[in-house]
Amino acid sequence: MQEIKVELTKNPKEKPAPGAPLPFGTIFTDHMFIMDYDLGQGWHDPRIVPYGPIEMEPSAMCLHYGQSVFEGMKAYRAVDGRILLFRPDKNMARLNVSNDRLCIPQIDEKFAEKAIEKLVSIDRDWVPSGEGASLYIRPFIIGVDPHVGVHPAHHLMFMVICCPVGAYYPEGLNPVKIYVEKNYVRAVRGGMGYTKTAGNYAASLKAQDEAEKQDYTQVLWLDGVERKYIEEVGTMNVFFVIDDEVVTPELQGSILSGITRMSCIDMMRHWGMKVTERKISIDEVARAAQEGRLKEAFGSGTAAVISPIGHLKWGDVVMEINKGEIGPVSQKLYDTLTGIQWGKVKDEFGWTV
Ligand code: PMP
Repeated sequence: MQEIKVELTKNPKEKPAPGAPLPFGTIFTDHMFIMDYDLGQGWHDPRIVPYGPIEMEPSAMCLHYGQSVFEGMKAYRAVDGRILLFRPDKNMARLNVSNDRLCIPQIDEKFAEKAIEKLVSIDRDWVPSGEGASLYIRPFIIGVDPHVGVHPAHHLMFMVICCPVGAYYPEGLNPVKIYVEKNYVRAVRGGMGYTKTAGNYAASLKAQDEAEKQDYTQVLWLDGVERKYIEEVGTMNVFFVIDDEVVTPELQGSILSGITRMSCIDMMRHWGMKVTERKISIDEVARAAQEGRLKEAFGSGTAAVISPIGHLKWGDVVMEINKGEIGPVSQKLYDTLTGIQWGKVKDEFGWTV
């Protein structure tokens, strides 16, 4: 394995006071990880350096053609003081899936995981300890060749930055209001929906903006062809509890394979619940709601962990799910996942590092 050079900051920043508000993604730690890629040389010069601006030319390819991928993961301060990562191997594997789709050279997943561990260890005092607080970790890769012209970059940078973040919802689990998006689509099969690439998020801004104007938290995305099958909710995967079956859309190319999603599926199956990954249409959900068979709906993702959906609007149809309250499946998943992440309950799955 390549050696990671370390240059520690001479000007450590003031850390947020314990309990101070930590608006998501705005405060950055003292250090960052960088590694370069050059054609013929491969990934080289891994280093941890003081956090700060990077230089690139205005012609850098990522600024024009969006050849960029990223990940989102967290480090948690466990109740016994240890710092835990949650399934970091899955994030690195997903990064390589994104890399493949975006013509970005593969990274050594084990090495990248070690680099993240080292960065978090150096900035360990930045991992907050408040209830629900964590250190959000953002690995990303950008193509930086100074070249206006569409082709895969020959010079790229892999970087990792970190920010202390508070609980996504200070009050913990919180039912959200969602509306079904009819005009815009996030991704299509054959496109890049299964990757974490910048363009997917740019594609979502307009719908998100309109949802917020109408006092909705996020949108529920439908498939791009028939506008019928459910895909994701905002930047979360989605689950429906219909009768005694838990249904989540199958991964068919336009949906991100969430690490929280796979963990929820594994846990519920471990608990003996029936979980099915299949196509599910918005009509089916509306019918189940009308017949009183839709017991719960919730989103899953690293940021909020579990977000129960209390209110779902599809055109003129408004579904109030579980009386707008937190359901037992959402609650159990949230308690178990956050329990494992903060080291409060035994990690019987071996997910934490
Ligand atoms: N879908 C999208 C589009 C996302 O951006 C995310 C957040 N990474 C998720 C789902 C949930 O994925 P994860 O559970 O890995 O955070």
